[in-house]
Amino acid sequence: MLIPFKLVIGSQDIYNLKRSIMINHEHNILCPYCGETISIVLDISVDEQEYIEDCCVCCQPILIHYRFQLGKITNIEIRAEGEI
Ligand SMILES: [Zn+2]
Repeated sequence: MLIPFKLVIGSQDIYNLKRSIMINHEHNILCPYCGETISIVLDISVDEQEYIEDCCVCCQPILIHYRFQLGKITNIEIRAEGEI
């Protein structure tokens, strides 16, 4: 007896893949410490976010604050942590 076999190639996986491409936005910034260009990946599933990322060149903590609206980054601030 043949058992009906339905092959489900994870449509959920494809959905997640598309989603992860859409919500991750790569951006180049200049490190406020060493001046090197570094690439960061912004999570644009949120409208606004502030976080600290260590520079991949000099390992200093960089404060990154950005706003994301209507499909693009509208404002991005890069500061050395501790500066006001
Ligand atoms: Zn640096």
